[in-house]
Amino acid sequence: MEKNQIIKLEITDLSYDALGVAHTEDGITVFVNNALPGEVVEAQILKVKKNLAFARVQNILVKSPERIEVKKNQWVQTGLASLAHLSYDAQLKFKQQQVENLLQKAHLTDVTVKETLPSPQITGYRNKAEVPVRQINGKLEIGFFRKHSHDMVPLENFFTTDAKIDQILVATRDILRKNHVSAYNEKSHLGAIKYLMVRVGHYTGEIMVVLVSTVKNFPQLPQVISEIEQLPNVKSVVLNYNPQKTNVILGRKDILLAGNPYITDQIGEQKFMISPQSFFQINSEQTTRLYDLAVRQADLQADDVVIDAYSGIGTIGLSVAQHVKKVIGVEVVKSAVEDSENNAALNQIDNADFALGKAEEMMPKWQEQGLSTDVVFVDPPRKGLTPEFIEATVKTGPKKVVYISCNPATLVRDLQQFQELGYKFDTIAPVDMFPMTPHVETVVLMSRVDK
Ligand code: SAH
Repeated sequence: MEKNQIIKLEITDLSYDALGVAHTEDGITVFVNNALPGEVVEAQILKVKKNLAFARVQNILVKSPERIEVKKNQWVQTGLASLAHLSYDAQLKFKQQQVENLLQKAHLTDVTVKETLPSPQITGYRNKAEVPVRQINGKLEIGFFRKHSHDMVPLENFFTTDAKIDQILVATRDILRKNHVSAYNEKSHLGAIKYLMVRVGHYTGEIMVVLVSTVKNFPQLPQVISEIEQLPNVKSVVLNYNPQKTNVILGRKDILLAGNPYITDQIGEQKFMISPQSFFQINSEQTTRLYDLAVRQADLQADDVVIDAYSGIGTIGLSVAQHVKKVIGVEVVKSAVEDSENNAALNQIDNADFALGKAEEMMPKWQEQGLSTDVVFVDPPRKGLTPEFIEATVKTGPKKVVYISCNPATLVRDLQQFQELGYKFDTIAPVDMFPMTPHVETVVLMSRVDK
């Protein structure tokens, strides 16, 4: 097998990152972009490694009945929506199956994986976009990187983001063009604007525009600010200073250009202030259902001490605070902790405290100081929990641990440790937070086994 060769492949599976999988007679596994299980395709080989190869579809000979015609191929190619070519029902099954496969590999066979809870919106659901800005053929463009590359495809419709965000992105692009602001060039490391980040409050309509820039100031900035400020519903304009040659989108420093340093949005009855650097669940309507599920399972009691680990701007902790004695949150991003304290005040909650620090360091410290807990919510990033965190959590004696996970692989690893330490669980509930993408979000309730 060699690069550029065209071969016929029968697709038998879909990888966790949405590539079609085929096995050749000589034992090579080929990952094929834009191919679905059950399809027979002619594919062009892009890259060959020892027992692996990557390819792209040239021609579909037998089509899957689950294939959906996608209006713009770029959505699938860029990884903005790499599952958009699969019917929504099949996407939901795929996500459930992912979790089942991982459980099976870990020999956790008596755990049931529920059907994936569908998202109320399956396109236009994202309340945040972060898009690269580059110069293409002499023009400043916004778009998205092709999968596994920094080759930017210009786009105006980002498909999974709220249409209000797309409008602001395009309008901001036009303001930058009109004022001859330069776009960043990755090779020369010249040019000002690297990314645009736009957030919308799903229930308030408030908009935040963040210009991610290699410089703190440029001659056209005052004019650019005054034009962005006049776009509908813009409540916050921020310059994020990111001079580093890295793939990290946001730099550490935010400079307020106009309006407030935050926007507000709602979850259920509660209001939340959100700063540029703070994490906020991106699918607002589905977040309510995710939290309802997590909270319902926790069966909270009035005298419970509750931990909200990886608390972001405090959304989970604050949504349960009025039903329990005390909430303690822990979060590593400083502005997010500040947001959570402001959000407690905004919602008249005085029994919630949020600590700044790494959960895996704070939890053992609190445990040594004698903390005793009743319910622990954890909602870590993709890398999951650490053994130290789990050990310390268990020592604080919670009767229930609710694990919200955005990566089933690390979830299953962590569940095994909880199980060894005396916790049981019988169901995993996938909740589709990211339609059209292969990302899988799940909720698991663990209960302490009392001897
Ligand atoms: N529970 C919140 C946030 C979940 S996202 C919500 O539902 O909105 C995960 C959060 O963990 C992010 O806010 C991230 O900044 C934070 N985080 C990442 N690593 C961490 C660590 N080691 N310790 C504490 N928080 C961390």
